[in-house]
Amino acid sequence: MTDRHAIQVLDPRLANQISAGEVVERPASVIKELVENAIDAGSRRIELELEAGGARLIKVRDDGSGIGEGDLPLALARHATSKITSLDDLEGVASLGFRGEALASISAVSRLELTSNVTDDPREGWRVVAEGRRMEPRVTPAPHPRGTSVIVRDLFFNTPARRKFLRTEKTEFGHVEESFRRLALSRFDIGWTLRHNQKTLHQLRPGDDGASRERRIGALLGNKFLENALHLDIEASGLRLWGWVGLPTHSRAQADQQYFFVNGRVVRDRLVAHAVRQAYRDVLFHGRHPVFVLYLELDPSVVDVNVHPTKHEVRFRDGRLVHDFLFSSLHRALGEVRPNSDAAGAD
Ligand code: ADP
Ligand code: MG
Repeated sequence: MTDRHAIQVLDPRLANQISAGEVVERPASVIKELVENAIDAGSRRIELELEAGGARLIKVRDDGSGIGEGDLPLALARHATSKITSLDDLEGVASLGFRGEALASISAVSRLELTSNVTDDPREGWRVVAEGRRMEPRVTPAPHPRGTSVIVRDLFFNTPARRKFLRTEKTEFGHVEESFRRLALSRFDIGWTLRHNQKTLHQLRPGDDGASRERRIGALLGNKFLENALHLDIEASGLRLWGWVGLPTHSRAQADQQYFFVNGRVVRDRLVAHAVRQAYRDVLFHGRHPVFVLYLELDPSVVDVNVHPTKHEVRFRDGRLVHDFLFSSLHRALGEVRPNSDAAGAD
């Protein structure tokens, strides 16, 4: 027998490339991960710039807390995170990220450059560069204002099978815009810019008051949405639901204007979908879909966000309670416009 083993532990960069499949599907998923990091860093302004639908270039720049010189190489390492240190932390996690996978995954399938500064002196700042499986661990000085810029070039350049799955520039950018819409709707208090092929498509000023929020909804979903939506804000048993629900007369053939946030995280959930469907049941024609932008706020410890790597799914500790609260809140809001029913919506 030789001491050559058939089983080997994967080289870490290769392991990253493989697991990148879970979180990096297309430019839109890169946007989601990078912007979530910017939000977690407490940014007030986030700027996005893309070329060729994001396949050639994705740049996300923020004014958040930044990453220190010594932490820069760690930021790209797998399972390296500053957001949790214990299972207990995970129980009540309030940050969008916590798995320490995104930067490792993205840098394994692109040419990535991370520049950051934790000080107020714009001449300070440091940069680390990774290119596919090769990583340049050297951290070099690079001027940058307080905050972080991540540049992702040539997504999937080293994984041709995945690159083949990218659609046309127009389709990919459509997904990017959808990601952007969700993110910008998740935080009214952050200012946003979206540029594509040198053109500015969105410039959203920050503002958390009613008028600013509606201005943003109008900019992202169109004024028609607003003109045909009811505003609601209901609180009961530790749960709060607020946002806008479309009038039954403003329904759509597709479920393409439905945004549901749980503690600031966009979520697609069957329990939520069911509660909404029930509430609209007797006011919508069969096959039509309501429009809504809804925010559910609840104690982070009663909802598990660690269900899937993309964190698009959640699990509520008391699903029944959440379902009934959603249903009754929406039913009550729609009661005002429901024919043959009084405003109390009793039935
Ligand atoms: P996670 O977000 O799950 O912690 P990531 O791979 O997305 O994992 O990021 C790794 C770490 O890099 C984060 O925990 C954070 O400390 C740091 N980081 C990444 N992006 C930024 C940013 N824009 N601003 C400040 N720190 C960042
Ligand atoms: Mg992250």
